[in-house]
Amino acid sequence: MSEKYDTDVAILGYGPTGVIAGLTLARHGISAMAFERHRDIYPRARAVTVNDWTMRIFQSLGIDEAVGKQIDPQRALRWMKYDGTELLRIEHPPSTLGVKPRFYNIYQPTMEATLRDCAAQYGDRLKVNYGTEVVALEQDAAGVTVSVRDNATGEVRRIRARYALGCDGGSSTTRGLLDVPLLGDTLDVLWIVIDCRVKRWWPDRNLLTFWSDKKRPVVDIALSGGNHRWELPLQPGETEADFDSHDKIWPLLKALGVSEEDVEIHQHAFYRHHTRMAQTWRVGRTFLAGDAAHLMPPWAGAGMQTGMRDAFDIGWKLAGVIQGRLPERFLDTYEAERRPNADFYTQLAVQLGRIIKQELSEEEQAALNAPPPDPANPPEPPLIAPPVLAGGWLRGPLAEHSAVGRMIPQPSVGDNRGAMARLDELLGHSFVLLGDDLDPATLLTAEERAGWDALGARYVAVRPQNRHTQGPDELVDLDEVLGPWMRRYGARAIAVRPDRFVAAVDTHGLAVPA
Ligand SMILES: Cc1cc2nc3c(=O)[nH]c(=O)nc-3n(C[C@H](O)[C@H](O)[C@H](O)COP(=O)(O)OP(=O)(O)OC[C@H]3O[C@@H](n4cnc5c(N)ncnc54)[C@H](O)[C@@H]3O)c2cc1C
Repeated sequence: MSEKYDTDVAILGYGPTGVIAGLTLARHGISAMAFERHRDIYPRARAVTVNDWTMRIFQSLGIDEAVGKQIDPQRALRWMKYDGTELLRIEHPPSTLGVKPRFYNIYQPTMEATLRDCAAQYGDRLKVNYGTEVVALEQDAAGVTVSVRDNATGEVRRIRARYALGCDGGSSTTRGLLDVPLLGDTLDVLWIVIDCRVKRWWPDRNLLTFWSDKKRPVVDIALSGGNHRWELPLQPGETEADFDSHDKIWPLLKALGVSEEDVEIHQHAFYRHHTRMAQTWRVGRTFLAGDAAHLMPPWAGAGMQTGMRDAFDIGWKLAGVIQGRLPERFLDTYEAERRPNADFYTQLAVQLGRIIKQELSEEEQAALNAPPPDPANPPEPPLIAPPVLAGGWLRGPLAEHSAVGRMIPQPSVGDNRGAMARLDELLGHSFVLLGDDLDPATLLTAEERAGWDALGARYVAVRPQNRHTQGPDELVDLDEVLGPWMRRYGARAIAVRPDRFVAAVDTHGLAVPA
């Protein structure tokens, strides 16, 4: 007799990671139930930025327009000394991922509210239980039983799901219930985050500025919706009690040249920086995602985004497994792919923090200031470079010359019915093989074709601008981007995953990766 489940996936915690997990599962037709301890959105504005990778995920979830209305373009990043010396500046070039511009400033509570509103469209497919706390979890070979307590009545219910996702933040109850250690360090220094409402514009307000200094490094950033943020470390001997009112906080802002004419203080909070990761992200049928799995310093602006990318990744993979298109073992690729990426951003954040705190050696500073070997073709700084996977469900080499593991660009394309749209809109949500001016299926053996057919793949020829389409499985590369991109890596055909990363290239065999 087949088992009865209350839902396919139980989402434990409904912050940004939990909502993206819910949206991804619901978008793929999977039922989910979320449990969130609080009734309201956490009011402290933590995350300050999202980039084109995250926006492409929003696009895939059909929510990029709604989110786009309440975020602001970010102009550039700069690292300044108080004497006016500019240590480093990153001007954001146009995005290759089909999102304009490349970086955005956000206001986290507003963004979370929009995400929740967008998720509400799924009705019963994504049931959210607010004011409900996860208190226990048991698992067996067929599913997960989660005990949840209604915080108003004290009533405890047991929910049976095929899988569970622990998206319950840095002090994750799920991680504790699974007995998974959180390895790493927490720095001693306490930071104060001051969020303000802007009263007038000032020069360069829209440059994200890191005031770099050994003693008082400061993050100075415009948030969307007319908010502005300063983050400062407390000095030895200073405590939270020294800044328990706006009157006591104002001297910190005034020392930075900010006055009551510029802003009014809205709220403030204190926090410490963590560099921590859960020892494992999977126990049985339960997965950890977001801050429950990893905590990083804020310097790369990547904590929330990394959680959202985790949620998207495990979401489409769980959907494939639950719908019977992917084998259960595919779920092991979640941690194999996401852990190195979270680690990359954590290390990047640590290094950027060393610039801000002026901890670089003279040699390191000189290397930072050195002109690129090929000034006409400077490499993109890792913070803004298009995403690449460092391992996982891929076939072929992860190398400079290889397209494997890279996210494909997203140009405008046309189809044989005359529609013009961004590539992803016309590709759908499944696996797709793309051929550079050829039908990619013609390069496959019968066995390779059967493998991709079993995954529900499409086969699409990408034609140059000046060609006729010959059928429904053809797209015209209106920006002349995709064909040249494939040729740059010597590829005639590529196999693309639902998350738009290249899984295989004809140069190293187009068979479905093991
Ligand atoms: C000062 C600061 C600046 C930051 N800047 C950035 C930035 O620029 N860019 C960026 O990407 N990230 C940034 N971050 C990090 C970002 O805010 C977090 O990574 C992000 O909020 C994590 O999302 P999450 O959903 O994983 O966890 P959370 O946001 O912590 O959400 C977890 C949810 O689970 C709920 N929950 C917990 N326990 C239970 C339970 N037992 N039962 C039910 N529900 C439960 C909580 O109530 C909460 O709603 C910053 C963080 C800080 C502190």
